[in-house]
Amino acid sequence: MSDCVFCSIAAGEIPSEVVYSDDLMLVFKDVNPKADVHLVGIPRQHFSDVAEFSLADSVSCGVFIKKLAEIGRAHGDFKLIFNTGAGVGQTVFHVHGHILAGKITGEV
Ligand code: AMP
Ligand code: ZN
Repeated sequence: MSDCVFCSIAAGEIPSEVVYSDDLMLVFKDVNPKADVHLVGIPRQHFSDVAEFSLADSVSCGVFIKKLAEIGRAHGDFKLIFNTGAGVGQTVFHVHGHILAGKITGEV
């Protein structure tokens, strides 16, 4: 999707610090970290939020969340947060899961 920063990251048009990548998804470091470990996971395909993604393709959404949980677990206890809608603070409207671990220093 044009004008979507996370589609541009998935296409390699905007640099990011990628920690995991496969055909379905990408996980990279948040540019404005709110924890010792603050990663952002996105599917390569554009969906606006996790509600839309899960409705459109529940199987891929399940695989996506399973991988985010695996990466989170590798850092010990973790939070997995999907802001869904501007009213709760979503600012990038390409579905993304925040993985937070270690010392948490702010809210996402
Ligand atoms: P949200 O408020 O849930 O929509 O979260 C969007 C997140 O994307 C924020 O934590 C931003 O710091 C992060 N972010 C925005 N642009 C970039 C970027 N180019 N690279 C890495 N993280 C980004
Ligand atoms: Zn997008």
